[in-house]
Amino acid sequence: MLNVVIFGAPGSGKGTQSERIIEQFGLAHISTGDVLRAEMKNDTELGKIAKDYIEKGQLVPDELIVDMLAKVLDEKKGSNGVIFDGFPRTIPQAIALKNMLNERGTDVSVMLNLQVEEEELINRLLERGKVSGRSDDNLETIKSRLEVYHSQTAPLADYYIKEGKHVAIQGVGSIDEIFDRIKKALEEINA
Ligand code: AMP
Repeated sequence: MLNVVIFGAPGSGKGTQSERIIEQFGLAHISTGDVLRAEMKNDTELGKIAKDYIEKGQLVPDELIVDMLAKVLDEKKGSNGVIFDGFPRTIPQAIALKNMLNERGTDVSVMLNLQVEEEELINRLLERGKVSGRSDDNLETIKSRLEVYHSQTAPLADYYIKEGKHVAIQGVGSIDEIFDRIKKALEEINA
């Protein structure tokens, strides 16, 4: 099993690179942001709760996310592995992920940390906002998402360094160049 956590600030290219990784390595994809947006679209209870947090650029509470993830994970049973995109975003989520995978006889193989400078992140997210239709791709919400990233999510890098799972990936350049760096890292792990 190859279980990959793709990590980085909003706008670092997690979704774009996930698509390439899935093509190349045949992994199942779990994006908690995508699952939450589908819940919002279907106007479910979870979607209604999540909407307020997402529009403020804040994180949806851990218990809701962890319960949601456990369900989605069981739907991906039988795959070669999973790419986790946008999850975990807090230390309790990382611990919950480890426990969920361990209970299923597997673990996180690697955490790929996409590194991109703040100015570039803001430019990319504003550009994406012109076409994405996402209610959180506007300057005000982008700024709070980046603050939340620095205070709650970035500390996960240390968690995965201690676990011996952290690989830094330079996240600037063309999509192909970035993917080549990722491919090399994953091939080493898979070898
Ligand atoms: P994303 O599509 O990954 O940028 O996520 C969009 C928004 O969904 C985030 O700003 C959060 O409000 C919420 N969200 C997505 N994943 C998580 C998570 N793992 N924990 C908490 N909130 C999340």
